[in-house]
Amino acid sequence: MIDKQLTTQLLQSMVRINSVNPGLDDLGAGEANVAHWIADVCRAWGLDVELQDSAPGRPNVIARWKGSGGGAAGGRSILLTGHTDTVSTLNMPGDPLDGRIEGNRMYGRGAYDMKGGLAAILGAVEALRRDGFQPRGDVILGFVTDEEYLSIGTDALVKRVKADAAILTEPTEMRLCIAHKGFAWLDLITHGVAGHGSLYHSGVDAIAHMGRLLAALERFENQIFPQRSHTLLGRASAHASLITGGLGLSTYPDRAHLQVEHRLLPDETGADVVTLWEREIAALKAVDPRFNAEVTLDFYRPGYEIAPDAPIVQTVRDAAARVLGHTPENYGMWAWLDSAILGRADIPTVIIGPGGEGAHAAVEWVNLDEVYQCAAIIADAVTAWAG
Ligand SMILES: [Zn+2]
Repeated sequence: MIDKQLTTQLLQSMVRINSVNPGLDDLGAGEANVAHWIADVCRAWGLDVELQDSAPGRPNVIARWKGSGGGAAGGRSILLTGHTDTVSTLNMPGDPLDGRIEGNRMYGRGAYDMKGGLAAILGAVEALRRDGFQPRGDVILGFVTDEEYLSIGTDALVKRVKADAAILTEPTEMRLCIAHKGFAWLDLITHGVAGHGSLYHSGVDAIAHMGRLLAALERFENQIFPQRSHTLLGRASAHASLITGGLGLSTYPDRAHLQVEHRLLPDETGADVVTLWEREIAALKAVDPRFNAEVTLDFYRPGYEIAPDAPIVQTVRDAAARVLGHTPENYGMWAWLDSAILGRADIPTVIIGPGGEGAHAAVEWVNLDEVYQCAAIIADAVTAWAG
């Protein structure tokens, strides 16, 4: 049985520890304080705890509950994981880290995304240990840094940890997330020729030429991307994020710089969208030799998908059905998640976590009943998988 009071206290303590990602906010406290706090909790429960620096002063917590091995089920290992960092609190009124409880909600930055999910993992493990459960496969807890920025935490974790499956407790409103999108950040640069604003015969307007690429972007949105669609994720998309260019009012601009974000379906790559732009640029050059542009890939993370009948998905679905009294629906997350890194490290991953509201918003809260339900699902699934 999940100890609801303890799980609530664990959650409240974590919400009250500032762990704003320093990559997003120069004043961000980082993950070290909450990582040390979690490490102490896990040590007190007798787990074998390791702090792994994903960057100097930014530790992952890896806590191992050693399995006894053997058995008919083969002692399958499982990783229970989530991120300890949060986005900035600057846009939040009042005390963003008070962790106050009103009815069934706990408020505060990170309560929903995703310290509620971390509390569910801790609550599940505490209950299993108190109940005398002995896993055959290893149960590994991975509390990682930096998911909200570059995911250096999970990048480091998969170098250290191998597991037969993982449960990631990002918020899914208790639905079973089996797919999410990827993303790619691109730089598009148009080159013009600087010149006096009166000299139309020699100046080449890099900003006007960027307009042609913006028109192409809208055509991708309206005509190209709608041609393909994923059952759970809809279509791919792209939008203009940042634009700069120009030298002065009376000067032809020599250069314009556009940063674009693409959101990708699980079978699309960063190279695919670079090719899309390269074709467009070649076509524009073919009709106007003065047109000169280039595209480069700045950063890319692939999407992720796991089969609805994969063993870990079925195990968690069955556990959720027992706890919730109904089979949770399959769900696709549009946002990116660390499961893409886990999946590519050969750790089949399913995502389920408590509901709430306000990830990255001014008011954030998590549904406490769903934190307890999620803990119960994890405990049930670990028993079935690793027992
Ligand atoms: Zn998250």
